[in-house]
Amino acid sequence: MQTLRDLPALRSAVQMLKSDGKPLVLVPTMGALHDGHMALVEEARRHGRHVVVSIFVNPRQFGPNEDLAAYPRREAKDAQMLQTAGVDILWAPTVEIMYPAGYATNISVTGISDGLDGAARPGHFDGVATVVTKLFNQVQPDIAIFGQKDYQQLAVIRRFVADLNLPIEIVGLPTQRAEDGLALSSRNAYLSDEERKAALALPRALGEAKRQIEKGEPVAGTLAQAIASLAAHGFGPIDYVSLCDAATLEPMAVLDRPARLLGAAKLGTTRLIDNIAIDPV
Ligand code: AMP
Repeated sequence: MQTLRDLPALRSAVQMLKSDGKPLVLVPTMGALHDGHMALVEEARRHGRHVVVSIFVNPRQFGPNEDLAAYPRREAKDAQMLQTAGVDILWAPTVEIMYPAGYATNISVTGISDGLDGAARPGHFDGVATVVTKLFNQVQPDIAIFGQKDYQQLAVIRRFVADLNLPIEIVGLPTQRAEDGLALSSRNAYLSDEERKAALALPRALGEAKRQIEKGEPVAGTLAQAIASLAAHGFGPIDYVSLCDAATLEPMAVLDRPARLLGAAKLGTTRLIDNIAIDPV
C-alpha cells in the first residue's frame, strides 16, 4: 500500500492502477478506523477491485464548538489495518493541500441537508459535500462506498452526485454494530465505561419506537417516549428522534411508506447518532 499526501503523486498512482481497466473504489473516512470502516473496505475489495481509502479530518464539517481538535487521530494504526486489508492507496492529504490559501468554493445541497443533523450542526453538510466533491475530483473513482450509519450524509451525497452528473456509483452499506447493538463509531472512544453502557439506550429507544409504530401506535407519542427514555438514561441535549421518508428525509406523521427512524443526542460531551429502517407492515 502506498501512503500519499500530495496530488501529483496521487494522480500518477491512480492512473497506474486504472490502466488495467478494473474499477477503482474510494472509501472516504476521517480515520480512527473500526470494524464499520473495515466492512466498507472489504466490500470495496470484492471482485479484485482497486481500492483507495482516504483519511482526512475535515475542518469544514466541524462547527466552532465541536470536537475537531479532540477528534481521534491514529494514522499509523489505521495504515496498518488498511495494508492488511489489501488497500492499494491511502490518500491522507494535509489541510493545506485540501484548502490552500485563497480557497473559496463551497458545495451546498439544499432541502435534504436542512433538517436533522443539518439543523443541529449548521454548515456541517456544506463541509461534507465540499470535501467529498473534492475527494471525488482528486481520486476519480468509479464507485464510492459510504455507511448508512450516517444516513443523512449518504442521502446528501446521492443528491449532489445526481445533480452534478458525477459518473460515480454510490454504494451505501448497513451499519456495523458492537455485539450489544451500539453502532460502531470513532466517537465511541470518548465514552467512559459508564457512558458506554448508557449509550445502548439510543439503539434500544429506536428499536422500541420501531416496534410501537409498527404495532400502529401514534408516531408523535412514540417519538416523545423515545426522547423521554433517552433523557432517563442521561442523554441530553437530545437533538432529535424523528421518523422520516427513507428517500427525501421529510418528517412523517404516519407510517405509510418506507421510512427511517433517526436519533441524535449528546451523552456527556459525546454526540451519538443512529438510525434504523422501518417499513409499513
Ligand atoms: P467517518 O470516519 O466517521 O467519517 O466515517 C467514514 C465512513 O464510514 C462513512 O461512510 C460512515 O458512514 C462509515 N461508517 C462509520 N461508522 C460505521 C458503522 N458503524 N457501520 C458502517 N459504516 C460506518
